[in-house]
Amino acid sequence: MLPGSRIRCLQAPQAPHPTSNLGPGESTKSNKARCRKVISQFPFAATVSFLFLWPLIWLARRVLDGAADGEGFIVLGGKGADAVGPAQDLGRLDGGPNGHACVHLRYTALLMLAITSLDNQWMGHPRSIAAALLESEGHRAIVDPGPGSTIETLRKQLHARGLSVRDLDALLLTHIHLDHAGASGALVRENPRLAVYVHKNGAPHMADPSKLLASALRLWPNELQQLFGETLPVPAENLRILEGGETLPLGSGKLEVVYTPGHASHHVSYFDHDEGVAFVGDTTGVRIEGHAYVMPATPPPDIDLKIWENSFTAILERKPARLFLTHFGFSENPAEHVLLFRERLHQWAEIAANSMRSASDESAAMASFMAATRAEIAEHLPAEEVEHYVFSAGLHLSFLGLARYLRKRAAAAF
Ligand SMILES: [Zn+2]
Repeated sequence: MLPGSRIRCLQAPQAPHPTSNLGPGESTKSNKARCRKVISQFPFAATVSFLFLWPLIWLARRVLDGAADGEGFIVLGGKGADAVGPAQDLGRLDGGPNGHACVHLRYTALLMLAITSLDNQWMGHPRSIAAALLESEGHRAIVDPGPGSTIETLRKQLHARGLSVRDLDALLLTHIHLDHAGASGALVRENPRLAVYVHKNGAPHMADPSKLLASALRLWPNELQQLFGETLPVPAENLRILEGGETLPLGSGKLEVVYTPGHASHHVSYFDHDEGVAFVGDTTGVRIEGHAYVMPATPPPDIDLKIWENSFTAILERKPARLFLTHFGFSENPAEHVLLFRERLHQWAEIAANSMRSASDESAAMASFMAATRAEIAEHLPAEEVEHYVFSAGLHLSFLGLARYLRKRAAAAF
């Protein structure tokens, strides 16, 4: 389902197609087709009606959500969408079984996942780290909750939507880097029923983050606490191990898990095929919503440009309508985005290789790499954005990750 389809369905009970036009015995299917045809002629009216109807629908959903929670429905990793019953609840509320075909459309629309981008305001910077809140039928998951340092912001973001950490059912981690997953243990402490989904290679480091923290401390010897806050272990019983290839139900929506290494060896992406959104973490770099520039983020320890190619293919062959990036938000043209990112990724690897060849030592090579890439960023973005990108992606880390990859590749060639 493409973005915008929800608006069309929500418009359906309104004029110009009153439900009284449905003749006796007329099938839901034929009316649904007719309804779509009529509504497509009134996109403006549909949009206006959606804006007015949404508060009422939201209120109804909140009431239904409460009912669903009371009946103990299982969400991710549970019985699956078919075993979950909220569809009947919505049906009962909206009318009888042979009643209104357009009402049926509205009810169908509410079964899809609602996606909300939450700005974690990392280190006080808007548009640095985005968490995605996914909701369906009273069930809620967050893709990449962010670091421990932004947990208070996350709490406020949920609160502003009438939710708390205890209303969440699952965390879907794209990978375990602290800027994506660091808050997981603290969130589980607050809500012990949270399921934490993570690739099998990352799971041991969520259960025991000591090695993860030790390597982070080498990269940020003085700023670790300030940048990432508290990183607590996730109890083994809360972990749900992924390999890629799974389908996870969330209420009545579902997500395909795809293994997408390259940025990290344990990276996965989540695809919501109904909404056409791919939650790709850092697989396709850094691009702030609405900007044209795409910047690589290649931190150590396991950048691999060759393996990364398979991840680009896996994303593109699923033809998502939009990407959702942790840094930051939606990108509307995945094919163009991946093409730009892939080109720049290989250019930056070349810049790193040249810097390493020509500089006298590693720190001189890093300085040379950073000067060249910073100049390139400045060609594409206004001055105030350059530092923001450098900060969000960690430009010095991108050198360290590429340098390590290039050394490993050179060593393997002998
Ligand atoms: Zn990241």
